[in-house]
Amino acid sequence: MSKSKGYAAPQSKAPLAPFSFDRREPREHDVVIDIKYCGICHSDIHQARDEWSDYQDECIFPMVPGHEIAGVVSAVGKNVTKHKVGDKVGVGCFVDSCRRCPECKQGLEQYCSVKTVWTYNARDNEEKPTYGGYSDRIVVDENYVLRMPDNLALDTCAPLLCAGITLYSPLKHWKAGLGKKVAIIGLGGLGHMGVKIAHAMGSEVTVLSQSLKKQADGKRLGADHYYATSDAATFEKLARSFDLIINTVSAQINWNEYLGLLKVDGTMVLVGLPEKDIPVGAFSLTGGRRSLAGSQIGGIRETQEMLDFCGKHGFGSDVEVIPIQKVNEAFERVLKSDVRYRFVIDMATL
Ligand code: NAP
Ligand code: ZN
Ligand code: ZN
Repeated sequence: MSKSKGYAAPQSKAPLAPFSFDRREPREHDVVIDIKYCGICHSDIHQARDEWSDYQDECIFPMVPGHEIAGVVSAVGKNVTKHKVGDKVGVGCFVDSCRRCPECKQGLEQYCSVKTVWTYNARDNEEKPTYGGYSDRIVVDENYVLRMPDNLALDTCAPLLCAGITLYSPLKHWKAGLGKKVAIIGLGGLGHMGVKIAHAMGSEVTVLSQSLKKQADGKRLGADHYYATSDAATFEKLARSFDLIINTVSAQINWNEYLGLLKVDGTMVLVGLPEKDIPVGAFSLTGGRRSLAGSQIGGIRETQEMLDFCGKHGFGSDVEVIPIQKVNEAFERVLKSDVRYRFVIDMATL
């Protein structure tokens, strides 16, 4: 065991505070990573406040959140072949899975039918709690560690490990690209990556935001169109417009109104994770042979593909880098949708 330090939520809804804990000694296939930056995902807030209690087991406190981890390899176990000391690497939402089930074999470790070991608020294969990236170091099996793009700054790449892959995976799966009209609901951490990636894939991109406050940013990020959903005329004007809508909103919205924006055979993919079940009218789907779907991050192979894609297209995330002492303030600002467009913690301030 070796000592690590970080910031943890001591209990549900309590402010995060400094916390010391043990990390395992590296095993033969482990990589030790000095964490340089960690993004703040809205999921970190849902978890630290135990907002998903309807859908998951009890949260584990103290909880060190953080699953958008970017750092540099500082040591490797004796059988590691994929990474070496000094490499720029990343870790996303999970650090292990069963490796044998049909999903793992297809590279869909995030849907492992035995057990995906989440980066924090979970138990590893020895039943020890996992601790995330709001910390100085992490020890992870080499097969769950990603290579970061050489040409991009590490701070801007950290959010790719969750926000980036969470949008890349459904955009690819539902075939965003030339000739496709794609809408992104919510211009936050996930949403702004959705705009960049869908645009880079060649789609015609529309942002559906609560207001027009961020319109200039949306256009700069790659959106062709931008509408305020607080304006009822938006729903009339855009009725039956989109092939694909990705919904990144963390709260309840009027699902049926948004489904009406899909063309016949269009699909709305949920990636946002509100606390409660969502009410959907059958007619919203049957009236256009529409699909309502969901998607969760992406597997290791696809996450590497997304990082390489972002490197090739020369973009990371738009970030506001903060010292770790401001993490509680950052949580509050995310809750007010006051983030442009991802907070990233500079771990040198720990
Ligand atoms: P975020 O930065 O807070 O962005 C969410 C955006 O949704 C906000 O910027 C806002 O955009 C819009 N929004 C917020 N409240 C709203 C409301 N009441 N009505 C309408 N729009 C609202 O959060 P994020 O980090 O992108 O995460 C978004 C959600 O995705 C969270 O629930 C998170 O847990 C979930 N998530 C899921 C996955 C997955 O694998 N499925 C992965 C990561 C995160 P505008 O200001 O433009 O309206
Ligand atoms: Zn996340
Ligand atoms: Zn598995």
